[in-house]
Amino acid sequence: SKDGGRGRWTFYDPQMDEARETRNLLELDLRAAIARGEIEVVYQPVVDAKTFALVSVEALARWNRRGHGPVSPDVFIPIAEASGLIDQLGLCVLRRALFQLSQWPELKLSVNVSPGQFRDPAFVDRVAEVFDEAGIEPGRVVMEMTETYFIQSPDRARQALERLKGLGLRIALDDFGAGFSSVGYLRQFGFDRMKIDRSLVQSLDRGHRAVEMLQATVALARSLGIPVTAEGVETEQQAVILRIAGCDQLQGYLFGRPQSPEDIAALMVRPMEL
Ligand code: C2E
Ligand code: CA
Ligand code: CA
Ligand code: CA
Repeated sequence: SKDGGRGRWTFYDPQMDEARETRNLLELDLRAAIARGEIEVVYQPVVDAKTFALVSVEALARWNRRGHGPVSPDVFIPIAEASGLIDQLGLCVLRRALFQLSQWPELKLSVNVSPGQFRDPAFVDRVAEVFDEAGIEPGRVVMEMTETYFIQSPDRARQALERLKGLGLRIALDDFGAGFSSVGYLRQFGFDRMKIDRSLVQSLDRGHRAVEMLQATVALARSLGIPVTAEGVETEQQAVILRIAGCDQLQGYLFGRPQSPEDIAALMVRPMEL
């Protein structure tokens, strides 16, 4: 309404309204896309830090929105999380990725899990069903989770982790170094792997302080017996520093972008050359 007739709108902000509208439309389209099976999955190579051999792939969701084109996961994943669509979306991605993995007996797989997925009390049972259907040994799969959930509700997080680990799955702490990550979480929650965030890897180009910090972090993780993957590796120089620091797996554009299953299959036949 107008503020005392002075011509200033106090309660109505057309710009905010527009943003909300855009978001609602995105949510509607996302819901439809999930129902129609239009969420695709691409796979990014993860290589052994010593040999650069392909050892694993990370499954990443892709949405090509009808009539609009690709929408970034940084946009649609938060919408899925806020609207409760993440349960369905997460299971769709897992189902596709596991069926894909059954074609690749020599590889392991990582999938991302959002904290919201644990709100469904049947989540772990659903996950177990998908593994049964696909005939995949859970030990071949790592679920990647960020620290937010562990900070927000540590007790529930610990329980959820224990149930997933009970199925035989491995759990990785994703995006380490991007937030307030402390190595304490690694031990406290029994993670099986740590993934160093791209921002930390890219800071290596800025000199030895960053290199020393990274070395200390990796050394600490390894002293706890937790192997470390570095992500966002774009240059050979970064790869060398990370390998020497003790990372056992590397992931990044240097080794391959997220790509179609066909391209991953081609990589297995014709190993990458650097
Ligand atoms: P993430 O789990 O940290 O995934 C790594 C992101 O870094 C991916 O972005 C990948 O394409 C990008 N990346 C990999 N290597 C490089 C590099 O060398 N340089 C640069 N600049 N970027 C690199 P993407 O695919 O856009 O995904 C963004 C985020 O969306 C993911 O971050 C993850 O948090 C979320 N996400 C994607 N798929 C899923 C999913 O199926 N479920 C859930 N819950 N989250 C997902
Ligand atoms: Ca991830
Ligand atoms: Ca990450
Ligand atoms: Ca991330």
